[in-house]
Amino acid sequence: MPGPSPLLRDVFGFETFRPGQEEIVDAVTQGENVLAIMPTGGGKSLCFQLPALLRDGVTVVISPLIALMRDQVRGLQEAGVEAGALTSGNTQDETDAVWAALEAGRLKLLYMAPERLASGATLGMLRRIGVGMIAVDEAHCVSQWGHDFRPDYLRIGELRRALDVPLAAFTATADAETREEIVEKLFDGIAPRSFLGGFDRPNIHLAFTAKDGPRRQILDFASARRGHSGIVYCGTRAKTEALAKALSDDGHSACFYHGGMDSEDRRTVETRFAREDGLIVVATVAFGMGIDKPDIRWVAHADLPKSIESYYQEIGRAGRDGAPAETLTLYGPDDIRLRRSQIDEGLAPPERRTADHARLNALLGLAEALGCRRQALLAYFGETSEPCGNCDLCETPPELFDATTPVRMALSAILRTEEWFGAGHLTDILTGTETDRIRDRGHDRLPTYGVGKEYDKRQWSAIFRQMMGRDLLRPDAERHGALKMTDTALPILRGEQTITLRRDVLRRAAQQRRPAV
Ligand code: ADP
Ligand code: ZN
Repeated sequence: MPGPSPLLRDVFGFETFRPGQEEIVDAVTQGENVLAIMPTGGGKSLCFQLPALLRDGVTVVISPLIALMRDQVRGLQEAGVEAGALTSGNTQDETDAVWAALEAGRLKLLYMAPERLASGATLGMLRRIGVGMIAVDEAHCVSQWGHDFRPDYLRIGELRRALDVPLAAFTATADAETREEIVEKLFDGIAPRSFLGGFDRPNIHLAFTAKDGPRRQILDFASARRGHSGIVYCGTRAKTEALAKALSDDGHSACFYHGGMDSEDRRTVETRFAREDGLIVVATVAFGMGIDKPDIRWVAHADLPKSIESYYQEIGRAGRDGAPAETLTLYGPDDIRLRRSQIDEGLAPPERRTADHARLNALLGLAEALGCRRQALLAYFGETSEPCGNCDLCETPPELFDATTPVRMALSAILRTEEWFGAGHLTDILTGTETDRIRDRGHDRLPTYGVGKEYDKRQWSAIFRQMMGRDLLRPDAERHGALKMTDTALPILRGEQTITLRRDVLRRAAQQRRPAV
């Protein structure tokens, strides 16, 4: 059986699993009966769509929402997956096409409204076509006490019995009574393997810091945790080697790991990491799949991860044993520029690029968060929570300031120089610094020349970084990373909206913090 990750990328266009997805996909693929509770927007559909491709036979998907079924079928078909729906919204032609595909044994996923189960003909058809599993979306509709009760959902249990195939039930409704009812009605009271949401990993301390001598920042973080196993993720292969050497020179037991090494060398590192205490692996994202070391005490990102999903997955390798673990993510304007250009220059179709930019924005939003980081992280995955008390921002709330004026100054400098320059030159204009470039271009005659003197270069760098983080500015790949204004900035430029930023005190709190271990 092929591993799920190539399909995840090739068919669904995702680089990594969302929290919880991988475990659920594995269980469903292996034919277990599964009950999974995931928040809305958490990514439930992948948890049956991906296994459907890995398993034999047709997966019957029962869902009460016709529009949603049609959406999913369209999405799957666009991705090249044979899927069809039998709903009351079908035209006769559509229904005929679905039947023909079923008879020909081509269909992998058949979406069906529960009402269909009332017909004997449907049941006969399902027996004939070789159903491999049943997936039930919105499984709480089986609950007679809930407001979404659908009497036809009660037939699903019969269907499972008649076909004798595994069933995977999904819902966002988590209360215990509903769960019990689902187990009773869909699984005949025999407890399925249950996944109860809860993406929070409260034992993992979260921290982000702007890059300010990143090598030293990583060395300090590692030294404060000397003797404990950790992973440092880097953006490039070359960097893993350089940083592993720096850590070794500093007296740590460290080695590097990346996709350019031959498989034997990689296996050696994996085995050492599993067996040795206190080894640091400096790696690209190639390191991760299949590591199940429970006592990784810390994970550092020397470069910004690719998306909020990757971030969650990578930090999630720490502290699987439930004991305190710590993370530190470094980021700077170069990371933002690099990640943006990777997306823009990639081969993905335009819609996917837009989605990738949005996922990157979500991570940048987390990096520049104004309040509890865990709250922001969980909110992205659809969970609401209280401030956690176990992140850098809960411990040291950032000092905020109304940055409307400097942000407008920066936007004005960008527009007056026609979006041809990067943060360095713009800062020289704003602070009224005399450089050859300023003189040559006549930028000392701009009305914005020197208007931002009250902020020093460092503060401007923090302002530009946060403006990029909020997606007010994007580096233009065709102009060597010159900063371009986005539409998000328009209301601020026009004076219709104010903006609050963090005063960057380049806190070293994350590094100085006494290690939990
Ligand atoms: P729900 O749990 O509400 O049914 P969906 O399955 O519709 O959620 O997924 C919600 C959104 O999350 C969709 O836009 C989907 O494309 C996106 N998504 C799902 N899985 C992933 C993933 N592994 N990486 C990135 N985005 C994902
Ligand atoms: Zn917090």
